[in-house]
Amino acid sequence: MTLKERDKKHLWHPLTQHKTHPDHIAIIKAKGCELTDEEGNTYIDAIASWYTCMYGHCNSYITNRVAEQMQTLDQVVFSGFTHQPAIELSEALISILPKNQKKLFFSDNGSTAVEIGIKMALQYHFNKGETRNVLVAFEDGFHGDTFGAMSVSGLSVYNGPFEDFFLDVKRIPTPNGNNHEQILEQLRKLIMTNDIAAFVYEPLVQGAAAMKMHDAEGLNTILKFCKDYGILTVADEVMTGFGKTGHFFASDGIEEKPDIMCLSKALTAGLLPMAITSCSQDIYNAFYSDDIKKGLFHGHTYSANPLACTAALAGIELLKSDDIQNHIKRIINSHQQFGEHIKPHPKVASIRQTGIIFALDLDVKMERYGNLRDRLFNHFMTHGVFLRPLGHTIYILAPYVISDTELKKVYSVIEEALDIL
Ligand SMILES: *Cc1c(COP(=O)(O)O)cnc(C)c1O
Repeated sequence: MTLKERDKKHLWHPLTQHKTHPDHIAIIKAKGCELTDEEGNTYIDAIASWYTCMYGHCNSYITNRVAEQMQTLDQVVFSGFTHQPAIELSEALISILPKNQKKLFFSDNGSTAVEIGIKMALQYHFNKGETRNVLVAFEDGFHGDTFGAMSVSGLSVYNGPFEDFFLDVKRIPTPNGNNHEQILEQLRKLIMTNDIAAFVYEPLVQGAAAMKMHDAEGLNTILKFCKDYGILTVADEVMTGFGKTGHFFASDGIEEKPDIMCLSKALTAGLLPMAITSCSQDIYNAFYSDDIKKGLFHGHTYSANPLACTAALAGIELLKSDDIQNHIKRIINSHQQFGEHIKPHPKVASIRQTGIIFALDLDVKMERYGNLRDRLFNHFMTHGVFLRPLGHTIYILAPYVISDTELKKVYSVIEEALDIL
């Protein structure tokens, strides 16, 4: 029996309606930007396995470091103990985060990073004796699949069974260059009737909303408003972090810095699951007390796993290297040229780009998981490129180490796909 067939016996895949879904493709190895399936087909991983393996799959600089760490210390409880990989990672990460970020809290995935961000914000006010129980978030945001994260997410098509159990969240539109005053007006109204604890947002690019992009100036206006009214700001950089926007973090391109930041995905270079919620000294100080109840009583068994910390540390070293920074510049330029070339195509409604994230909207109406989406996906896969179209959007978010030849192949497969529409 093939892996594909054996898979069906016991496995339940994420985000999948198994009754209508085709067989799952069994990947047996990955190197650089290439995935290989059990039949020997290869695919260029043009979405970096959900924005994780930005330095390439099985990058030996990272795997060697983790293999070495594995011989010394594999796992230890992070409550009551500490260790060198976590300490070194904290120093390296704080040195590249926005200057106001001073403390790091560990967990295992993007959703829990957001969950913790929300809990930090709510307890911050609680510890200060203030009642603030409402959150603000962007329309169409995505922050993960746990309850707090689902609550602040605005893509609700699949959340039906859970909506009655959500936190109280008010939505504002993303800034588009023309609606700044309108958003401020909406916020002014909201604060008159609600005690708002925090604003949770994906800065500059909303990943799951099909790489929807908004303007930095508008976001800055919102963040300034929040600061003026004591509303904490929680930047979900799970997708945008670690170089993708052309800065280390999307927040680097915005004047007003967040109080809290959520990191995962590329944090560990795609090797191991881990997440971090960082915060400013002011947030931390609100928990620092002789009163034990004011502490943050949240913890995960694998918090700050030494292997994951080592992968993250090696990843940050690569991110800061001239080599990776030059790759980022190269991809930004390459996408700009492809954008200019493809923009006039009659099937292209619009293009957009932030850093190495490129997206184009097709000039057709289609469902997020509809038939055309499947045809596009199959076309890409048949031609050896792993892309995951979302609705009528095709986006590229490739590892930094993708070669020019591989990039050209991704572009030409997209251009051919426009003809099968
Ligand atoms: C993927 C993602 C999450 C959720 O992360 P998981 O590790 O899948 O739980 C949260 N926020 C953003 C912006 C994401 O892209």
